[in-house]
Amino acid sequence: AIRIEGVDKWFASFHALKAVDLDVAAGERIVVCGPSGSGKSTLIRCINRLESHQQGRIVVNGVELNESLKNIDAVRRDVGMVFQHFNLFPHLTVLENCALPQILSRVTPRRDAEEKAMTLLERVRIPEQAQKYPGQLSGGQQQRVAIARALCMNPRVMLFDEPTSALDPEMVKEVLEVMVSLAEEGMTMIVVTHEMGFAKEAADRVVFMDQGRVVEIAEPRVFFDSPKHERTRHFLNQII
Ligand code: ATP
Ligand code: MG
Repeated sequence: AIRIEGVDKWFASFHALKAVDLDVAAGERIVVCGPSGSGKSTLIRCINRLESHQQGRIVVNGVELNESLKNIDAVRRDVGMVFQHFNLFPHLTVLENCALPQILSRVTPRRDAEEKAMTLLERVRIPEQAQKYPGQLSGGQQQRVAIARALCMNPRVMLFDEPTSALDPEMVKEVLEVMVSLAEEGMTMIVVTHEMGFAKEAADRVVFMDQGRVVEIAEPRVFFDSPKHERTRHFLNQII
């Protein structure tokens, strides 16, 4: 579970997150949307301390994120992240991309790490790509490798930052299908996306952010059918 309480974040004098509150239960699926610059990436990057907040509290599975490196390590062990640009190692094969983080972080024997990597590559339905290099794969396949690589670390929470927005339209579906199946298996997920079909199908709640604030949080049906705030309605009119 994740507890975000009164969180403020500044980049120098720029106020990027303003009094953000959000509780995510274990197994819950949250979609975060909002206009460009509203703080979506900043918020989820704070959850694994790629950014640090200056005020308020963030507690992930009982561990508070503060200056303690021990706490930061503990949280990062539990939290997997997938970015818009897959961030794969170009000089490693797909299998090595998935195996190496396990080997480096947990002194896992190579054979076990590769076995686990194959299991996860099967789960994202690209086992046949294991010996290729990322540059030889389509964008959708690369993103599925990035998801498999994150899952290899046995995360309890998965964060996604616009995982499909760099993909050609015909590749969006195959990535969303993997994410939906992950959601169905009960993974705790926070997904920044403008794929409202995914939000309707897989989210328990949708969070709308604007100018660093959480403006509205609601179940998808309520969020899409009767948004409370004018800013939410305006945003939905623009993207749907
Ligand atoms: P997008 O939809 O374009 O990805 P976003 O909602 O993810 O937008 P953020 O990336 O969280 O927005 O950025 C929120 C605000 O914080 C923006 O105004 C951005 O310019 C600013 N910002 C983000 N990162 C930094 C940084 N490292 N230094 C200074 N300002 C930053
Ligand atoms: Mg962003």
